[in-house]
Order: sequence, then structure tokens, then C-alpha cells
Amino acid sequence: MESETKVKVKALPQCTRCQGSLVMDREHDLVTGLALPVLLCVNCGCRTPLMKHPAPLYRN
Ligand SMILES: [Zn+2]
Repeated sequence: MESETKVKVKALPQCTRCQGSLVMDREHDLVTGLALPVLLCVNCGCRTPLMKHPAPLYRN
């Protein structure tokens, strides 16, 4: 049987630049009251937005 050690696991996203580990983070815009979930690379610090448009912090 062939080795499957190099199969990528979707549940653990990696940085597209440095292959570092990504953690969930959220950016807040206190002026507009919107929050945007992002994936933060713990290695190079780059951020990848999970959503194209930020969502409101509070629901009316
Ligand atoms: Zn990175």
C-alpha cells in the first residue's frame, strides 16, 4: 500500500506563503461596528479573510 503521510488535511489549513499553522482570529472595526473573521498565520503573521464582507457585531 502507498503511504498517505503527504495527504493534505483540510481541517488544518496552512499558510499559503510559508505553510505555517493558521489560527482563527477576528478583526473588529469599531467605527462601523463590523467584525471580520480571519485566519492568522502564527509564523509570518499574514491574515486571510474568511468572509468577503464583514458581519455586524450585534444583531438588532
Ligand atoms: Zn505564513
